Amino acid sequence: MMLAEKAAIVTGGGSGIGRATVQALAAEGAAVLVTDIDEAGGEEAAAAVREAGGRAAFMRVDVAEEDRVTAMVERALSDFGRLDLAYNNAGIEGPQALLAEQDMADVQHVFDVMIEGVYLCMQAEIPAMLESGGGSIVNAGSMWGLAAYPRWSPYMTAKHAVSGMTRAAALDYAKDNIRVNAVAPGPILTPLLLRGWDNDPSNASGRVPMGRIGRPEEVADAVVWLLSDKASFITGHVLPVDGGMLAEKG
Ligand code: NAD
Repeated sequence: MMLAEKAAIVTGGGSGIGRATVQALAAEGAAVLVTDIDEAGGEEAAAAVREAGGRAAFMRVDVAEEDRVTAMVERALSDFGRLDLAYNNAGIEGPQALLAEQDMADVQHVFDVMIEGVYLCMQAEIPAMLESGGGSIVNAGSMWGLAAYPRWSPYMTAKHAVSGMTRAAALDYAKDNIRVNAVAPGPILTPLLLRGWDNDPSNASGRVPMGRIGRPEEVADAVVWLLSDKASFITGHVLPVDGGMLAEKG
């Protein structure tokens, strides 16, 4: 197993890509602290790992709340004695409207969860990883953190910020045995995608060169690989997992 003896945090681990990543990390031997604002989903994800013989616990954490993020890392250290891996995945789709028509309270909420949330997570995780002798972080970016799509500026803005903070953090800790990367998924079949595309996945799949939308497990495999030592010389990378969509954009 690629991640035996490693301890991991997954935010937003109760649903979709986060949940698939919890399972994939546990299958490679990692102990996982699953966090989410969705208690039922998060508890289920952790219980599924334990039922399969793995190690996992759930904790309710809103990533936009600094004290909860601090407590999340403290919990990982107290449960597992170390922190090696983190997938900062929690996210929301945010409102769709022309930029000048966006309600700033809604926009701020998107920024709080996906910009401040990912930043706060890295701020808390990195000192713990330094204590553990190093680590590997993957942030949930998006293909919309490398390109743009109309009428969805809060999400586009937040995901571009994730691409930027991933590269910046990677450089800050490049000599400290901490790698920081992001995945940039295209359309992946999750509750978030269905909400964003009016419950009709074909609205999204028609735009994908491979002719289909992706599965959460296909992103989880990329996350696990980036987190693992198999990606030992890769840092500051934003990896598309998008069925070819960004290739078409050039
Ligand atoms: P999802 O809605 O299935 O899961 C997101 C999880 O994050 C949920 O369990 C939710 O409760 C949790 N969450 C939301 N706000 C939170 C907060 N403030 N604190 C803690 N947890 C919170 O969505 P998903 O599609 O699996 O998305 C996961 C990540 O992947 C997101 O960052 C999303 O932007 C990104 N992404 C998804 C797609 C896609 O097509 N599904 C594409 C590109 C990027």
